[in-house]
Amino acid sequence: MARTLETLLHHLDTVQYVLLLLGGGLLALLERGWPRRQGQRGAPTRWVVNLGLYGAGVALMATVFGPLQDAAIRLGSAAGWSGLVATAWPDAVKIALGVMLVDLVQFGLHWLAHAIPLLWRLHQVHHADEAMDVSTSVRHHPLEVIVLASLTLMLCAALGVPLLALALYAVLQLAHTLFCHANIALPPALDRWLRLVLVTPDMHRVHHSVRLDEGNANFSMVFPWWDHLFRTYCAQPAQGHQAMRLGLADGEGRGEPGLWRALWLPFAGRER
Ligand SMILES: [Zn+2]
Repeated sequence: MARTLETLLHHLDTVQYVLLLLGGGLLALLERGWPRRQGQRGAPTRWVVNLGLYGAGVALMATVFGPLQDAAIRLGSAAGWSGLVATAWPDAVKIALGVMLVDLVQFGLHWLAHAIPLLWRLHQVHHADEAMDVSTSVRHHPLEVIVLASLTLMLCAALGVPLLALALYAVLQLAHTLFCHANIALPPALDRWLRLVLVTPDMHRVHHSVRLDEGNANFSMVFPWWDHLFRTYCAQPAQGHQAMRLGLADGEGRGEPGLWRALWLPFAGRER
């Protein structure tokens, strides 16, 4: 398994692009055949904005990821690579625990992105989408991508998360974020069973509600357990999945949302 994961680490970028293209394409097709919410508006405009933000994030990451990774490795070395990586447990256990630890770190950072006004200014760009489909998964302000990657790498280096666990999580999280934002109708029984181990589209859609009580719930990224543990779980939206409104509270961000407007939103938007 370790060799497979090392191959994955060396081809991480390619694997992610192929997954994005094939996974995103397949989910987009399923959305047309089995949509959870009917009549979501503005798809072409939204897709231009969402994919434009993704492109800007990729371009920015390409320039700063190298130095970021070096800083994280230096931090890990300074800490003597203690934590998980230094334990005597089998590699498979370290990698499995590492993946869960990264997901817990992501849950914590997502909670903070809603709790700290400065971080919310960046994260609100993701929530400003007034519909939710597979394209929403890549809708993040480029600065949020950098801040999140920096904090994740630093925290994981400090905790001694194995690099292979980080690589595996990156692929898992990409596949999962495409899935959990997709506007697809899963059979209710499948949704019930699946959300015991994974955040499902219905579970994550609650987090995109304009209602603050629902928006401040379901922060989990891949595994739903953290919301149960920290009592932030909300099973269903009060108004149901078809009638619920998605986006920012108080009509903030409404109107035709162009790419420049989305890029400018952190510097203009009010705090939640
Ligand atoms: Zn959020």
